[in-house]
Amino acid sequence: MLKIEHIGIAVKNVSESVKLFEALLNVSCYKTEEVESEKVTTAFFKTGESKIELLQASSPESAIAMFIEKRGEGLHHIAFEVDNIEQEMARLKEKGFQLLREKPFRGADNKLVCFIHPKSSNGVLVELCQEIKAG
Ligand code: ZN
Repeated sequence: MLKIEHIGIAVKNVSESVKLFEALLNVSCYKTEEVESEKVTTAFFKTGESKIELLQASSPESAIAMFIEKRGEGLHHIAFEVDNIEQEMARLKEKGFQLLREKPFRGADNKLVCFIHPKSSNGVLVELCQEIKAG
């Protein structure tokens, strides 16, 4: 894994939290994006090498809605950047990690992503992400 690409934080109201995190980080949110496949609205901040991703549920069936109901707002996942997501998924699967889906899918911020079940990683939801290259 190359680096921590971003840290995901589950919030109830992304527009209020954008103001809070702009004040906290002293940087402006550079992008907000709806991710239809995950039923979330996201907002991103750059903090040096890494980013912060805020996630708000856009539907009650969203995993973020269920997460907040169970555990409240807060740290949701850590995302690591990888060069070759399929290869990394195969490596982790072989090591016994449980992947939430068999195939990578399109996430926010122009990335192919997949998640590792927190049961198999000490309670931490881990995301792998690979930049989608143009062309
Ligand atoms: Zn993420």
